[in-house]
Amino acid sequence: MSPREGNLQAPTRHPLDWRAPEFYDEAALHQEQERIFNICHGCRRCVSLCGAFPTLFDLIDNSATMEIDGVAKADYAKVVDQCYLCDLCYMTKCPYVPPHPWNVDFPHVMLRAKAVKFSKGDFTLRDRLLTSTDAVGKLATIPVVVQAVNAANASPPARKVMEKVLGVAADAWLPPYAERRFRSAAPASLGWPVRDGARTPGKVAVFATCYINYNEPGIGYDLLKILDHIRVPYALVASEACCGMPKLELGDLTRVEALKDVNIPALASLAKAGYAILTAVPSCTLMFKQELPLLFPDDADVRAVAEAMFDPFEYIVARERDGLLDRTFTRGLGKVSYHVPCHARVQNIGQKTREALEWIPDTSVNTVERCSGHDGTWGVKREFFEGAMKIGEPVFRRMEEFEPDYISSDCPIAARRIEEGIAQSGTERSPRRAHPLTLLRMAYGID
Ligand code: SF4
Ligand code: SF4
Repeated sequence: MSPREGNLQAPTRHPLDWRAPEFYDEAALHQEQERIFNICHGCRRCVSLCGAFPTLFDLIDNSATMEIDGVAKADYAKVVDQCYLCDLCYMTKCPYVPPHPWNVDFPHVMLRAKAVKFSKGDFTLRDRLLTSTDAVGKLATIPVVVQAVNAANASPPARKVMEKVLGVAADAWLPPYAERRFRSAAPASLGWPVRDGARTPGKVAVFATCYINYNEPGIGYDLLKILDHIRVPYALVASEACCGMPKLELGDLTRVEALKDVNIPALASLAKAGYAILTAVPSCTLMFKQELPLLFPDDADVRAVAEAMFDPFEYIVARERDGLLDRTFTRGLGKVSYHVPCHARVQNIGQKTREALEWIPDTSVNTVERCSGHDGTWGVKREFFEGAMKIGEPVFRRMEEFEPDYISSDCPIAARRIEEGIAQSGTERSPRRAHPLTLLRMAYGID
């Protein structure tokens, strides 16, 4: 049977068998990379998605044979280094994903290569620090320390030193730390009665995330205010650790498992008690919805959490479909350039944020669906920063061309990168940056 072009069935994703002995076998990894790279070279659909594919195609095209067998195995690492595991090639482009017999899962072979690299101790202090969001956040938000850390992050000479010593690009924006952590200052719910809908549980548990807890608590407060306003009782998850996405990107799967073991028991009991679980950062939502179930397919608690997990706008739009949402808005927002981050796209929930923003009167929404170039910790690394800004350029341009009053992205870090890119373009306009939850809170007229 000759393999057909593309799938006729919906894609399925096989779990990652990361505990199998051959998973860390470098020769077996190279064999699988060679197989997939060869298919990609003949296909080339993903050439514009990120740096991994152009790097691969250049390596092959410039080799002696102009085929994959002409590329040195050591050079495969150059392809892996350009992948920040956004999953877009798998979820949006590739016609050869399972159940197609070619069984192409490009991000999973990249993740395996990162795990093999990590298992050999091939990582730096910088890699460890950038991916320890919880530990660094705890330390950086201690009073007095927080002012010193923020001052250093904003100081060009200190950043030059940091670039030299640690390899964090001096020009890359680093998020300032908040003086008060979200989880210690979050107000209690107004305690409305629970109204379950056909699509939505009537009570919500909020998983704060490291970024909201330590860096931008305002987004978390906006989520809580909206929940109070739409009469949904909420609770914070009693204790939480990092979702594990940064460690996944590093290939440190043992640490991912340790974080899973901290988070899942508390989250699973909330899921079983009938809570919807919301996080305001798409990468963390994706971690619980898709990545952990692929790493731990036999864990019933991981599955229960995945099923209870909602993107906030997925929940709000489903609440509206349930006939349980107040859609009375008291103010329009003007022109909003809204960016759909990769980790929201690959959740396969449709553009729920755009849909909710379009409910708001006197508001026009320009939607840009393309990688912003931040990509977790990847885009702040010295060796990738310039390429990351190039990846983001079309997004910066299309967001700015709309002459927006606001720029917005579900991913608060991507929004900062876009703001940075627009500022560097030399435009005199400086649209305000606001998270979609902030915009919704404003449209509801909530202070
Ligand atoms: S997962 Fe994302 S970054 Fe990695 S190869 Fe695919 S599109 Fe590129
Ligand atoms: S990942 Fe799939 S769509 Fe992308 S280049 Fe490879 S074979 Fe083609």
